[in-house]
Amino acid sequence: MNVIRISWILAAALFLMPAHAAARRDTTLKRFEFSEPHMGTMFRIVLYAPDTSAAGRASSAAFARITALDNTMSDYKPTSELMRLSASAGGPPVKVSADLYRVLEVSQRVAEQSDGAFDVTVGPEVRLWRRARRQHELPDPVRLDRARELVGYKLLRLDPGERTAQLFKPGMLLDLGGIAKGYAADEALAVLKRFGISRALVAAAGDIAVGSPPPGKTGWRIAIEALDSEPGAGHPRIQNSKSAIQNRYLVLHDAGVSTSGDAEQHVDLGRVRYSHIVDPKTGGALTGHQSVTVVARDDFAADGLATAVSVLGPERGLKLIEATKGAGVLFVKETTAGVRSWQLRFP
Ligand code: ADP
Ligand code: MG
Repeated sequence: MNVIRISWILAAALFLMPAHAAARRDTTLKRFEFSEPHMGTMFRIVLYAPDTSAAGRASSAAFARITALDNTMSDYKPTSELMRLSASAGGPPVKVSADLYRVLEVSQRVAEQSDGAFDVTVGPEVRLWRRARRQHELPDPVRLDRARELVGYKLLRLDPGERTAQLFKPGMLLDLGGIAKGYAADEALAVLKRFGISRALVAAAGDIAVGSPPPGKTGWRIAIEALDSEPGAGHPRIQNSKSAIQNRYLVLHDAGVSTSGDAEQHVDLGRVRYSHIVDPKTGGALTGHQSVTVVARDDFAADGLATAVSVLGPERGLKLIEATKGAGVLFVKETTAGVRSWQLRFP
């Protein structure tokens, strides 16, 4: 009897002690925030650490990882590994780094699942639309036709055994803009964890990766801004009273959330708003005003899916999310009948 009681007390003590110790440690954690420009946007890190030097060391390492990934996957830097791979288009398979291979592998999976709505070979079309945004004129249809010939995820072959990638047609151009930020946010979070910091958030504009909750909280509070209901208006605003859809708040931990929309990058030509997201099959930029937010187990998955669902539209997009374990979506779109929203498993 005595033995059992003692062992029961011991067991209880064993369970309680680490929790007590953890709680004591947590109350001494302080909040730190850092930001740096990378991948054409601002990366923000919010973390809880015991002191300034621990926070500084961990965040510097996380930013170094993001810098390295940007140097690998940028399609703006001619010397990036991605651009060197694109330059090999039409030639034999090329050995690629582990990071680039992982991103291409997941990209190809999203491409298959979305029937090519998400497609990292979209580069030649994206280039023409970037030019259109700069010059405020629609792309030349002849050039767009030519670009379309060079786009298609089946023209990219990966070999997992050799870790190589091959682009079948000369002139092909890879663009990881729809997925690289999600991967980088996840990787930055993983670096922080290796430094003993698990209560952290990494945000790159509409791409957010969250780890364990802040001390004493159940999760990180994330605002999804309402879609502005005025045609042709600018960015989503906080608390737009005219909008049928109010701001939403999510409380998340150990997850990724990604918003794709036309708020940040678009061009208005002849009263039509053209997004920076392109339908790879037609070569046309998405038109109209919409915002897609995907929540998933990590931001790598959320980022690719948000872009895919944007192209697929609400009906087909929700089916893709339904088939994806652990994912949820909020689709908000301006229609002639006002702002409409669709959602599935959205927390
Ligand atoms: P954001 O860059 O605002 O986070 P997305 O994640 O949706 O938004 O990425 C959009 C970017 O992805 C574009 O700027 C372009 O570089 C690239 N892209 C455009 N259309 C597609 C597509 N259909 N599939 C994959 N990538 C795309
Ligand atoms: Mg994306």
